[in-house]
Amino acid sequence: MLVVMDKNATAEQIERVVRAIESRGYTARPIPGGDRVSIGILNNAGPVDPALFAGMPGVKDAIAVTRPYKLVSREIQPSDTLIQVGHVTIGQGHLTIMGGPCAIESEQQAMTIAEHVKTGGGHLFRGGAFKPRTSPYTFQGMGLEGLKIMAKVRDTFDMPVVTEVMDSETFDMVEEYADIVQIGTRNMQNFSLLKRAGQSRRPVMLKRGMSATLEEWLMAAEYILAGGNRNVILCERGVRTFVRHSRNTLDLSVVPVILKESHLPIIVDPSHAAGVRDQVLPLSRASVAAGAHGLMVEVHHQPDQALSDGAQSLYPEQFATLCRQAHQMHAMLQE
Ligand code: PEP
Ligand code: MN
Repeated sequence: MLVVMDKNATAEQIERVVRAIESRGYTARPIPGGDRVSIGILNNAGPVDPALFAGMPGVKDAIAVTRPYKLVSREIQPSDTLIQVGHVTIGQGHLTIMGGPCAIESEQQAMTIAEHVKTGGGHLFRGGAFKPRTSPYTFQGMGLEGLKIMAKVRDTFDMPVVTEVMDSETFDMVEEYADIVQIGTRNMQNFSLLKRAGQSRRPVMLKRGMSATLEEWLMAAEYILAGGNRNVILCERGVRTFVRHSRNTLDLSVVPVILKESHLPIIVDPSHAAGVRDQVLPLSRASVAAGAHGLMVEVHHQPDQALSDGAQSLYPEQFATLCRQAHQMHAMLQE
């Protein structure tokens, strides 16, 4: 249920509705909009009678919400969420490009790649300090040292940084260094991690689980919003299918559906979908054409020597081409 307040409802009228909702044992979540406030009703086990609130002073309407996800839904918030990270805005009308290596391998490696990302046209620097690897015998990331290198990249190049958090135990540490905290495909339904992310002061980039339906993905995002963190960016990164010509199958059909269903920004990671660098540029163009608000791409100056995901990492010149073409495509679609 969504209680939509009048444009000129007073703070006292809003507060009275909040109290009326809470007195019935539900949670009230005020959502400030462009010109009016709406109040979401959460934690109701069954349907709520609209008549309970529709007649209260200052109330314009009380609308039933039909989706299982509420706070992430456009039914509750019709206007797009814009997320500000330093001087970068993520969301409708903007095209944000994040580039960097799969993993931080050394300070020199990170600095070299960051310079290429910056001059190539990237807005944010990505890189893993804690790596979720399929094999326990492969490089697991530099941990805290890697996070400190990322902070140095941010300060040197004036670029916000995005990095993955793998568990609740290291959340405080990652959040201290990251501008955006990433939750990876393998953790999309790690509900205790999602609850912790809901309490974070940082924006969270939630990657789609490799076998997750749209509904499961949005319900995972709902956990974060329900915890109080409204700054969630969704990231499509390919799903498992039967094909062998790519590592995963980039599900671009999910982009227009997310744009319709949710007010949250949606970006695409073509690198982990493709698994090979030749597919990354065409898939990036297609992502922007489908309406994505941004891209996250792996870049390495010496991909043959990368400790992870070298085969899908772009050379710096390819990344610069990608940025140029993606912006051209985006500008064309803004007309
Ligand atoms: C990553 O972006 O570093 C990563 C591990 O991606 P995913 O969770 O999509 O596999
Ligand atoms: Mn990777």
